[in-house]
Amino acid sequence: MSFSELGLAAEIQRAVAEQGYDTPTPIQRQAIPAVLAGRDLMATAQTGTGKTAGFTLPILHLLAARPRRAARTPRVLVLTPTRELAIQVEESVRVYGQHLPLASLAVFGGVGIQPQIASLRRGVDILVATPGRLLDHVQQKTAVLSGIEIFVLDEADRMLDMGFIRDIRKIIALLPPARQNLMFSATFSPEIRELAAGLLQQPVAVDVAPRNTAAETVIQKVIETNREQKKELLKQLFASRGLHQALVFARTKHGADALARMLDKAGVKAAAIHGDKTQGARTRALADFKAGKLTALVATDIAARGLDIDALPYVINYELPNVAEDYVHRIGRTGRAGLAGEAISLVCHDERGNLRDIEKLIKRPIERLVIPGFEAAATAAPRPAPPPRPPRRPPVARPAKSQAGGPTRHRSGSRHR
Ligand code: AMP
Repeated sequence: MSFSELGLAAEIQRAVAEQGYDTPTPIQRQAIPAVLAGRDLMATAQTGTGKTAGFTLPILHLLAARPRRAARTPRVLVLTPTRELAIQVEESVRVYGQHLPLASLAVFGGVGIQPQIASLRRGVDILVATPGRLLDHVQQKTAVLSGIEIFVLDEADRMLDMGFIRDIRKIIALLPPARQNLMFSATFSPEIRELAAGLLQQPVAVDVAPRNTAAETVIQKVIETNREQKKELLKQLFASRGLHQALVFARTKHGADALARMLDKAGVKAAAIHGDKTQGARTRALADFKAGKLTALVATDIAARGLDIDALPYVINYELPNVAEDYVHRIGRTGRAGLAGEAISLVCHDERGNLRDIEKLIKRPIERLVIPGFEAAATAAPRPAPPPRPPRRPPVARPAKSQAGGPTRHRSGSRHR
């Protein structure tokens, strides 16, 4: 299937072609016709599947085809959990809508509100927003939501994780009842189901990315080592593997800062990105990383969520996340759009439990890589000897002290076909 078969306006098809895309991704194939038909949508899809274009393209088409109802007030509202995602979604809207006379704007906290107010006054068709700042605008009457025709809730699962449910409900209550609703979520938990039931009317359900999709396409490796050796090991990985662009995950903001400083000192250009950084610093770090001016971007889970970095070759988990699903999100930052990617996790003794949870979730063991000089110390991680297989017959049937061969004989003996 090609984009021309989807019936999108010529201006949109031109913008898509200029991006070099000729074939719609599975979510685009399913979501675009449903949205064009005016249906509500519940899509289970992660970042990296092309979901942004999946809702942006048909929305642009609908707006261009329908005359304005209320002058100057937004007709589309896209809610996102993070500032980074708001910026990226708005960028997509601008890119795909560049040949259409439509105005878009991203509003988010952590930056001055005045420029946003000025842009809203000039008139905005598509407003992309994080919940808190949007409510500030509503309170100040600088954003009016009564003209919203299409409402998009992006990364709904992360919205709930971040505690935005009350804000979301407040915002939904401000929208006119006759509207089209699109909801995107990486997972489909009972909470998401409940939110969807209250928001969507007879939605078309699209499910393109089982949550371990990335886990199947990304080359994954684990290096079992010792906590006190991780810093040296990280430096060595950058040096010996000639990594030129790697996203490094740390558990804490403080840890992310410390790692970025350590790498920088070691001659690996690095910056940290997390919730305590100013918006300017985060945007700058991401731009520098994308432009190849930084070799390493050290991030916390929340800051990295939804980052759109084309063809990112490496993800390094300096520490494993506590929640196994976050591992899948993290490694989903690499190996995108069919490109090869590698995710390397440094695992010390007290993270073995996390590793087991992750392997259970992705339903397979992750390959172990041994780096000489960095092996996990036997004392720190005593490996219990595997218990002998319990005999299936009374022990008397086994030759004394002969474990080798014994269990095999029993096993083959018990398998009557
Ligand atoms: P998303 O899941 O929306 O974050 O998109 C993931 C990446 O895929 C982005 O870098 C998009 O620019 C890219 N992309 C979106 N649609 C297509 C397509 N049809 N063909 C190739 N790449 C695409």
